[in-house]
Amino acid sequence: MDLANHVRTIPDYPKPGILFRDITTLLGDAAALRVAVDRLVEACVGLRVDKVAGIEARGFILGGAVAHQLGAGFIPLRKKGKLPHHTIAVEYALEYGVDSIEMHQDACAAGERIALIDDLIATGGTAMAALELLGRTGAQVVAAGFVIDLPDLGGSARLRGREVPVTALIDFPGH
Ligand code: AMP
Repeated sequence: MDLANHVRTIPDYPKPGILFRDITTLLGDAAALRVAVDRLVEACVGLRVDKVAGIEARGFILGGAVAHQLGAGFIPLRKKGKLPHHTIAVEYALEYGVDSIEMHQDACAAGERIALIDDLIATGGTAMAALELLGRTGAQVVAAGFVIDLPDLGGSARLRGREVPVTALIDFPGH
């Protein structure tokens, strides 16, 4: 199945010049959703993943399904102010703006093996912030999986430069 056919592209959203890659069409198609989750799971098989970390919000949908299939736990990496207990945070630059992500400081422990999941990697700012957050606990990110890579923006190369194996199901050229 060519998953690219299930992604809807919205020009100039959320601001002029951005081609927004909307995966709600993929999520809404039972067969495409199953294929996407299965392919992300395949990339983690044999890696002894303890927990899947998903980035708010679309990374929760995919990451939760991947964690279930792997028999792993799930860690929500959330926008600022959403988590109720003690948190650690890292600021990062988005393709369109600046933001920060947080996790509970006890969400994972030193030595745990983590798979990072999100819908899309662009500049890699979000994923690198996630890598830093998880790394602060002493956990190790052993895989990163995305439905979509925008390779021209360099994020997947940045992650690979940090020795994190990256799997992306679809590459879109440009931004
Ligand atoms: P980045 O930090 O630049 O790698 O951006 C990745 C994050 O921003 C992901 O959580 C995506 O959901 C979102 N994002 C960035 N660019 C796009 C895009 N062109 N279409 C859809 N989502 C995007």
